[in-house]
Amino acid sequence: MITPLNLTDECRVMIFAPHPDDETLATGGLLQQAAAVGAAVRVIFATNGDNNPWPQRVIEHRWRIGITDRVRWGTKRRDEALAALKCLGIPSTCTVFLGYPDQGLTGLLLTGSQEILIKIASEIANWNPTLLIIPSSLDIHPDHSALAVLVRLALAYLGRDQPHLTQLSYLIHPPQRRGTPTDFIYLSLSREQQLHKREAILCHQSQLKLSRGKLLAFVKDSEKFLPVPESASLYGRHPIRHVTLSGSTLRLDMAIRILLGLSGRSLLYLIADHPGKGTTCLSVKLPVKSAKVNVCDVISGAIVASALFDGICWKGKILLPLSVLLPADRIFVKLERPFIFFDEGGWREISIPSLSQRASSVTMIQEKKLP
Ligand SMILES: [Zn+2]
Repeated sequence: MITPLNLTDECRVMIFAPHPDDETLATGGLLQQAAAVGAAVRVIFATNGDNNPWPQRVIEHRWRIGITDRVRWGTKRRDEALAALKCLGIPSTCTVFLGYPDQGLTGLLLTGSQEILIKIASEIANWNPTLLIIPSSLDIHPDHSALAVLVRLALAYLGRDQPHLTQLSYLIHPPQRRGTPTDFIYLSLSREQQLHKREAILCHQSQLKLSRGKLLAFVKDSEKFLPVPESASLYGRHPIRHVTLSGSTLRLDMAIRILLGLSGRSLLYLIADHPGKGTTCLSVKLPVKSAKVNVCDVISGAIVASALFDGICWKGKILLPLSVLLPADRIFVKLERPFIFFDEGGWREISIPSLSQRASSVTMIQEKKLP
């Protein structure tokens, strides 16, 4: 087991970026240090960042954006990423562009796409990284959190024994309230590395017109990463506030902030990871007041169970039959709020104890109730 961020020429660093620019913003310093010590580097871009309409409208002075416009924009963003990586000492031969749909990774996750899971798993298996850096499942951009879960599922697909693999994650769009600074692992950047990182960010011209300040704010004297899986303490203000497993019932206590007076019906998503047998993706449309609710299979739309919701549309608890999630040994849950693109807290990972472990305890509290 290598020490995180103790980069040597024996390291094999693999970075997953949802879009071109994430690699520079999150790991611009780490990439320079990896290149400097002679570590092997692979940067995997899940999408070309082609569904990026507002910067494209402003820069290209066009309102309507068709498919060919998007393809052109995606090519531009790929070129920008390659130029940025060159600034950081990483040649284009170290990159892979998977070309999945920008703003479409959550859809692939929820429909249980085996194609993307196998693709990610084969990239990892073929490259055999010692240090894997992925977006955080807590990132509030749906593509970022979905890619985090997809990589986690791909690792499970490969088998859980990854003795020489250190996993870290990065937050580009952090939730409103995040963990204390002690939760992070910091990588110090020299003055020169900060200047190179700035130069690399400036290669992402398509993003600078509307977000120059936001992007350049990533030039700091350190980069910070989280151990994966993220510690439960980081879920402090996650909308799935509290998790209780009691016998055959899973209870989730939930709360979301009301933004701009928009408090419509939220959707609860649950992904059950069945080792070696794929995933089950379920959804529950939360009512505006206490009621019995349907648990639906996301792909077929079929009602697979009923659950009890107690609360109002922005705050309450739901009691779900654990049987619809079994034989999963862990699940991922997310609360998708209506009308708003960004999430409030990404995907929360929950371990499901085995039957014998559950039998030994009538009630298991996964973590202390929050104040
Ligand atoms: Zn991104």
